[in-house]
Amino acid sequence: NSTPPPNFIRAIVAADVQSGKNYGRVITRFPPEPNGYLHIGHAKSICLNFGIAAEFGGLCNFRFDDTNPSKEETEYVESIIEDVHWLGFDWGDRLYYASDYFERLYEYAVQLVRDGNAYVCSLTADEIREYRGTLTQPGKDSPYRNRSVAENLDLLARMRAGEFEDGSHVLRARIDMASPNLNMRDPVIYRIRHVEHHRTGNKWCIYPMYDFAHGLSDSVEGITHSICTLEYEDHRPLYDWFLDVLKVECHPQQIEFARLNLSHTVMSKRKLLQLVREGHVAGWDDPRMPTLAGIRRRGYTPEAIRNFCELIGVGKRDSMVDAALLEHCIREDLNRRAPRVMGVVRPLRVVIDNYPEGQVEELEAVNNPEDPGMGTRKVPFSRVIYIEQEDFMEAPPKKFYRLAPGREVRLRYAYFITCVDVVKDAQGKVVELRCTYDPATRGGGAPDGRAVKATLHWVSADHALEAEARLYDHLFLKADPDDERDGLDFKAHINPASLEVLKSCRVEPSLAGAAPGTRYQLERQGYFCVDPDSTAQKLVLNRTVTLRDTWAK
Ligand code: ATP
Ligand code: MG
Ligand code: MG
Repeated sequence: NSTPPPNFIRAIVAADVQSGKNYGRVITRFPPEPNGYLHIGHAKSICLNFGIAAEFGGLCNFRFDDTNPSKEETEYVESIIEDVHWLGFDWGDRLYYASDYFERLYEYAVQLVRDGNAYVCSLTADEIREYRGTLTQPGKDSPYRNRSVAENLDLLARMRAGEFEDGSHVLRARIDMASPNLNMRDPVIYRIRHVEHHRTGNKWCIYPMYDFAHGLSDSVEGITHSICTLEYEDHRPLYDWFLDVLKVECHPQQIEFARLNLSHTVMSKRKLLQLVREGHVAGWDDPRMPTLAGIRRRGYTPEAIRNFCELIGVGKRDSMVDAALLEHCIREDLNRRAPRVMGVVRPLRVVIDNYPEGQVEELEAVNNPEDPGMGTRKVPFSRVIYIEQEDFMEAPPKKFYRLAPGREVRLRYAYFITCVDVVKDAQGKVVELRCTYDPATRGGGAPDGRAVKATLHWVSADHALEAEARLYDHLFLKADPDDERDGLDFKAHINPASLEVLKSCRVEPSLAGAAPGTRYQLERQGYFCVDPDSTAQKLVLNRTVTLRDTWAK
């Protein structure tokens, strides 16, 4: 519960509260369109809107911007609600849907027509684009621009009544076809779409456009500060225009900030949907996805994400945040709270020749050296164990200090062992090591003071549980896959090795029955989270992040 760092939006809101604007009230909103799952960029917006409301004793509305039925689905509505809740925010009873305002928005449209501020245009979509002009060329008035109010009212009513085909007419704001701002050149505010809406069904066949619906929805809800990303800066004159000409009581202030861009991923819902539909990932909640559902399944905590959103700050210039910063945040959080366990992801069998057959010892292991309050547990030790394949080399180079023929190492919480023989299969692959142990080193120290250079993790073969480990890497090899200056589509940069599945891992028995979502540090291997694909027979573990922090080093 640290105080959030100052930023320019907080400064604006603080000044407004101080000056008594809006009677000192602060109402923000988070307005997702239910056309996909939320991603880490949305988390930035959620933290900002809910955070500012909380800081100034205000309220934050949670509003579905559901005005474009062809791309929206109930599945997305449900996932978005779950994700905002998971991230740790509470909207109480302030859950709204722009579609609940369809009638009211229509009345505003009628008012625009009555006041001569909107007209029904019967140009085709292509013609409208053509007439619009370019940045360097003014647009041309539509031949329908001077239809009478009576004719416009009649046509609008018949559009609503379903008399016309999709695309045959639109309602446009009557502003200025010569405006240097293209958004002000008589933008479309309603179009005909004979499409079923996920909430209003077939009640409507005309749907309002974003710029018209959004500002008026903000106004209807009494929003004071409408915070959005920079690409809407050019839309602000239009946002204000609707509110001005309609003389609404509440005129929220739109404030733009730089969206979050994260390296080695894409954030546009259109692109994320493509990854899902084309099978490049297993679904919206694939642990490689930047979606909150994916990141959650990967093992991230809401605290780490909120901390990340605070660290990146809020600015006015677009930039790219290194994915390593996000990893740094989860490492820091899990280091504090994840219990340590031993698990071997690529097992190599080790037989300890001089350890009595059938004997089992329960050795005491520390659950978290960062937090003594988390206590200790017992780990079984016996004659046959597994160690990590990479912890043994038959002909070790100079700086390899782990196990090798004739060499002695420490087994964590257990004994010193020395490798006395190497067993190979017909292809010459090492399949088993024969070792001896020194009973005097129980607990990991030698009474004679002799030192070993390495401590290995291990599991007892008879007691270990089978597990599958899924190791993840960036989904894209290129830091900015959205940058198409190289002439390549973002999908050209997909990392073919973003997922490695290790099917025959062995983990210590304390993991038995671990519920999906449980997080651990597998000593020396990284932080892992139990995946919902786990069964009673086999645990599936997602590696959230490796142990080493390369950030800021
Ligand atoms: P997309 O372009 O991928 O469809 P969007 O911005 O249209 O994304 P919305 O559902 O409309 O997605 O977004 C809801 C809110 O989240 C908006 O206020 C939007 O500004 C904000 N938002 C979306 N993406 C980001 C991002 N990358 N960083 C910060 N805020 C974001
Ligand atoms: Mg949007
Ligand atoms: Mg969008």
